[in-house]
Amino acid sequence: MCKEFTLVAGPCSVESLEQVIHTAKELKDKLSPDFFRAGVWKPRTRPGSFEGVGEIGLEWLQIVQHDFGLKVITEAGSADHIDKLARYDINSFWIGARTVANPFSVQEISNALKNADVNVFIKNPIHPDIELWIGAIERFINAGVKNVFAIHRGFYPYEKTHLRNVPRWEIPIELARRFPELKIICDPSHIAGDTKYIADISQKAIDLNMCGLMVESHYQPEKALSDKNQQLTPQQLKNIIDSLVFRSDKTSDDEYKNLLAGLRDKIDVIDYQLIDMLEHRFKLVDEIGGLKKSHNVTILQLERWKTIVESRLNYANADNISREFLLKILQMIHKESIQRQNEIFGKE
Ligand code: PEP
Ligand code: MN
Repeated sequence: MCKEFTLVAGPCSVESLEQVIHTAKELKDKLSPDFFRAGVWKPRTRPGSFEGVGEIGLEWLQIVQHDFGLKVITEAGSADHIDKLARYDINSFWIGARTVANPFSVQEISNALKNADVNVFIKNPIHPDIELWIGAIERFINAGVKNVFAIHRGFYPYEKTHLRNVPRWEIPIELARRFPELKIICDPSHIAGDTKYIADISQKAIDLNMCGLMVESHYQPEKALSDKNQQLTPQQLKNIIDSLVFRSDKTSDDEYKNLLAGLRDKIDVIDYQLIDMLEHRFKLVDEIGGLKKSHNVTILQLERWKTIVESRLNYANADNISREFLLKILQMIHKESIQRQNEIFGKE
């Protein structure tokens, strides 16, 4: 549960003193964000793109921090970066999606912290491996850092979509289930890849009770040296933030509470029925496994599997349950059934 909403805003990269000053001033006047973000070291997938201005950028960020009273935050990817941040009085940093995937780097960075009084924001790794994300979070918690945030920035899209990264909302939801006290914020910019999707993704994050947003904003997005298409002007960002609908995760309305309790009771009953039915179904699957084995027949019976998929998809009312979802469930059940029968075949 979030006690407060954290807004992190600023350009993808530090480009010049003029650029950070202009952007920070506009953001401060319009939104007064909790953190001003800007990367000085940019981990690009391929060499040759803009890789950041380096250490000089820290000097400029220090000016922003001092002149505008904004806490600045940048990406750190090595122990050397941590030493440099300390030299410029910067005590907030994020670990990027590429670095999080490397436990050696994450451990090295957390070891380099001499003072645990820092704000560390940990992005999800590029690929949807929640354990890697959790591992990085644990390394900083174990290093004594109290202010650890997770940033949901979406995952590599294995299939083509309109978004730069697919949100896979179930992953941050699972993270919240396992770490209820952790502050999870959303980075709609890197999920979207294009400013036109940022408002919707931000609202979705808020509806899922996330604790804040990290959004890229540049005073002249068309001139940005990195991630040009996804950077909003401070005014565009303000318009989005102003239009967000914040909802509480609870209400004291009694009628609502009664209705909700009644509906949840029904859902509880159905969930237990589903479990009973699945157990029953798997018993039959096991029996069939024994039968196939004793008659020397293969586990996979393609015709039967095709018939199951077609008949179940035809049976379901597409208005009530999506075909895509039903297919996924059938595939999961089928996979589990094959595994059980494989075990039966393996037994003496
Ligand atoms: C960024 O925030 O600019 C960035 C490089 O993000 P990510 O690590 O999520 O790709
Ligand atoms: Mn970026």
